[in-house]
Amino acid sequence: MRIIDAHVHLSDFKKEEIEDFIHEGYILVAVAEDYESSLRTLELRDLFPENIKACVGIHPWKIKEQANLEGEAEKVLDLVRDADCIGEVGLDKKFVPENTLQDQLRIFNQFVDAATKSGKPLNIHSAGAWGEVLDVLREKKAERVVLHWWTGPINLLKEIIQSGYYVTINASIKIQEKSRKIAEQLPLNLILTESDGPYNYRGLYLNPKLVPETLQILSQIKNVPVQDIKNKVWQNFLNLFNANKA
Ligand SMILES: [Zn+2]
Repeated sequence: MRIIDAHVHLSDFKKEEIEDFIHEGYILVAVAEDYESSLRTLELRDLFPENIKACVGIHPWKIKEQANLEGEAEKVLDLVRDADCIGEVGLDKKFVPENTLQDQLRIFNQFVDAATKSGKPLNIHSAGAWGEVLDVLREKKAERVVLHWWTGPINLLKEIIQSGYYVTINASIKIQEKSRKIAEQLPLNLILTESDGPYNYRGLYLNPKLVPETLQILSQIKNVPVQDIKNKVWQNFLNLFNANKA
């Protein structure tokens, strides 16, 4: 039973920090944002295959920076074969201009198709586009899904739960009331933990080392011993990657 960070931008950390996380024994689902970071993430996984699952993808925030978006997408889609999962992909209507939404949708659809075809899990960003992301997943019949740091409307949780999608609870739960509300509603068999590090959220330096405290907070919210929460998240991780049958 290990501690899971199910959404971390590992290639953005310093080498010494990464070595420290590995030394601590964390299991890291490392996401990427473009072709370069996808390559670096695969390299890190090859260095530490016991601890790292490598996702490849194009982050919705990177869409507008691409001079040759289709070419970039094609290169990343080629890497899916070597990857363990696909992400960070998704849609965003909160932090990036709405006029990129058509491009975002086209690219997101391509990656969801790649996921259903390969059977690999999706690690999804859905800020401000909560309903739109679920529309695509429903239409494509996506099955292995992680909705990362999901803080959308509570009324959409019903569909998420019915679909069996995992939701990551971010270490920000310490200070973010909405995360707490979501955690209260989610069944334990759909909860994963994450940091989304390295990222500064209202003064909190998000990184995998905050996950143990996140587990403590979940233990209080669910009124379940922390060991049981840890075990549940571990089982959920194994289920997501189909590793529990190995
Ligand atoms: Zn992220």
